[in-house]
Amino acid sequence: MSINSKTSLTGIIGYPLDKTLSPLIQNAAFESLGLNWCYVPMPVESENLETALKGLPSLGFKGINVTMPHKEGVLQYIDEVSSYAELAGAVNTIHFEDSKMIGYNTDGRGFLHALEHDGGFTPEGKQVVVLGAGGAARSISLILALNKVESLTVVNRTLEKAQNLTAGIHKKFGDCKTKALSFSSDLPKIIDSADLVVNSTPVGWNGELVIEPDLLHSGQVVMDLVYIPEETKLLQEAKSRGVKIIPGKLMLLYQGAASFEIWTKTQAPLEDMRKVLDKELLELSRNEKS
Ligand code: NAP
Repeated sequence: MSINSKTSLTGIIGYPLDKTLSPLIQNAAFESLGLNWCYVPMPVESENLETALKGLPSLGFKGINVTMPHKEGVLQYIDEVSSYAELAGAVNTIHFEDSKMIGYNTDGRGFLHALEHDGGFTPEGKQVVVLGAGGAARSISLILALNKVESLTVVNRTLEKAQNLTAGIHKKFGDCKTKALSFSSDLPKIIDSADLVVNSTPVGWNGELVIEPDLLHSGQVVMDLVYIPEETKLLQEAKSRGVKIIPGKLMLLYQGAASFEIWTKTQAPLEDMRKVLDKELLELSRNEKS
């Protein structure tokens, strides 16, 4: 990649940004298509968010990704927001177009594509359990409700956050049966009757298990948003019980591809993005083991 005065700039703002794999997959995509574009990580603390964001268009940025802790905070500075990002109350992609800042959220799209395309799972009429009630859980719950799941149970360490999330979903999607739970004695029954279980807590990055895997059984689908290791302990245990598994790296890949397409208006070179991501995840897993 050669960077010059004609290079179109993109990047990611968040804090901290040590672990982001987005520069790797986006730069691989630009290179694969021979685009004179570049993607840079920009660690920005909350007190500098407004100044940093407002300066980007005049520096020649075409668009950016936004990650924690700014996904909600950027909303106040944005001119237009897609309907899904507005419903989610969070933006992960900004397009600087015609002197406007337009906000999108590609997390739900990335999640849904992994679920349908790789997991062969259609949400309509299904019973779903989402573990966690943070930003990712909110995007996922919303896309599942939009795609007509029959029931959605949100299980969270802090019950109040699960209740807030399900109340919001129930208000917008009256047909979707919702329930909020803490990790309580009711969990076995709820997991047993689920068609899909999604881990959207960070439990698993260090080899921990968020639920007892004996609660899972064949016929179910489990997705873990944690993507290092690629097959988390939860996914390994689920697979050994005949459960269909979907690794979190797929959501990462597809949400990144969707952002790429928003900025460049060009189809993302998915296979090249996937290849570079797989290689990096393998390397990271090897380093963790050694
Ligand atoms: P977040 O907003 O900070 O929410 C974290 C959630 O996990 C909260 O509900 C929190 O519960 C719960 N939690 C945290 N530590 C826990 C523990 N030790 N035991 C049980 N529950 C715990 O984070 P987020 O943005 O939603 O992200 C969640 C995870 O998804 C992260 O690991 C992130 O890296 C991953 N993610 C992956 C992708 C992807 O593309 N694969 C995309 C987005 C996010 P409390 O409410 O009780 O604190």
